[in-house]
Amino acid sequence: MNLTSYLAGRPLQSAQVLTVRSPYDGSISGTVTLATRADTEAAIAAATAFRDTPTRYQRSEILEKTRTALEARREEFARTISSEAGLALREGRYEVGRTIDVLRFAAMEALRDDGQIFSCDISAQGKARKIFTTREPLRCAVAITPFNHPLNQVAHKLGPALAAGTPIILKPSEKTPLVAVKFAELLYAAGLPGAMLSVLLGPTADVAEVLVQHPDVEVVAFTGSVPVGKRIALTAGYKKLVLELGGNDPLIVLDDADLDLAVTLAAEGSYRNSGQRCTAVKRILVQAGIAPEFTRRLVEKTREYTCGNPLDEATKVGTVIDEASAIYLETVLQEAVAAGAKVLIGGERRGALLQPTVITDVPRDCRMVVSESFGPLAPIIIVRDLDDALTLANSTAYGLSSGVVTTSLPSAMKAIRTLRCGTVNINEVPGFRVENSPFGGIKDSGLGIKEGVIEAMKGYSYVKTFSLPW
Ligand code: NAP
Repeated sequence: MNLTSYLAGRPLQSAQVLTVRSPYDGSISGTVTLATRADTEAAIAAATAFRDTPTRYQRSEILEKTRTALEARREEFARTISSEAGLALREGRYEVGRTIDVLRFAAMEALRDDGQIFSCDISAQGKARKIFTTREPLRCAVAITPFNHPLNQVAHKLGPALAAGTPIILKPSEKTPLVAVKFAELLYAAGLPGAMLSVLLGPTADVAEVLVQHPDVEVVAFTGSVPVGKRIALTAGYKKLVLELGGNDPLIVLDDADLDLAVTLAAEGSYRNSGQRCTAVKRILVQAGIAPEFTRRLVEKTREYTCGNPLDEATKVGTVIDEASAIYLETVLQEAVAAGAKVLIGGERRGALLQPTVITDVPRDCRMVVSESFGPLAPIIIVRDLDDALTLANSTAYGLSSGVVTTSLPSAMKAIRTLRCGTVNINEVPGFRVENSPFGGIKDSGLGIKEGVIEAMKGYSYVKTFSLPW
């Protein structure tokens, strides 16, 4: 699969190409041509010069046509994800399904009127006029996306921007650019004006950093790691920032939990997408009374998560993104073991494959608990009671999402009030959402500015207020 970067809808021919390899066996998944600094500047100029914004109806139609085209090519897109990201085919299929939802909701939202009306004769200082608001597109948005949901993260940036009528320049992860470029091609084929979308791959200093720092870029929407997000915050200058960063989400399991449900949520939350979701379960905080039985059942459940060739239908867990990441996870695991933790199942690594792993007796201060470990690790930490769980849950620098398994409404409500994070899901994994609901974290996980199709459209537009004497 030989693809190109795109400058305002035009394929960029270049001798410089990025070669993308399967994390599973190193085979070549495809290539993409690279952009230069001059291409990056030209893409910004093309976006900011664009004035021929499609109508709401036209924007909705483009998004709908893209959705229909993706429906027709679901399997091909799922296989591209598995091939370049090493994710199990079932994960690629799931991600395509989510992307179809993003497009459906974005097409719906493009049609929705976003104005408000304020009568002005409501105060002694007022008069008989009316103030109206309308949302205007920005001139140029930039989206920078990570590897872990290589299609859906891209859709969550492009869908809302295009629904809002805002031209956007995408810099996808260099680890997973293929499905991103193919997605852009669907949008062009659906009638998107070329100047409304560029997709650029290239050296960080010539593409990503130029995009982030350019004064004509009005918003940078970034999803990725905390260090890169904080660097963007320092260097972007005077512009809007939407930062969706790392997570270290807890699943709290209380003594009164439905045990089957708790075990299923722990396994799904820890192992889906090879544990590489920002909202994956990264710490399982289990109340002491239920801990022995929960642990026994989670080990049994983990046996179901066969790990291997991502393109094999029987595989439930594919690779992590590359061998270096798997080695890092192995190191974190060894550190925990040296500090007294015990590996009950899993832990073996072969290349970029890491077996789903259950770890107990994990000290509260080891790296696996304090920082984000982006892989299929399920560390169990025993807590005394709800208060202990909430204190521990809140003790890290992150604040993305959380899950609480309990049958007690008072415990659920206390957790909702006390957890310092963007989302609390009761009897669900932290990652549960629908694509148009507000989503995003606080603390090191983000600035509290939400994404999800409806909220994201606000990030890609500004409110214009006008008043009339009628
Ligand atoms: P990453 O290393 O931060 O990379 C993310 C993107 O930033 C890539 O496109 C990368 O480009 C680009 N980048 C690298 N250096 C940059 C710079 N100096 N300026 C601007 N952009 C730069 O993250 P990742 O490893 O791909 O993704 C995993 C992380 O994303 C995890 O921490 C995960 O929790 C987080 N995440 C958060 C959310 C959320 O919604 N909160 C969702 C998904 C993932 P290259 O590929 O070219 O290096």
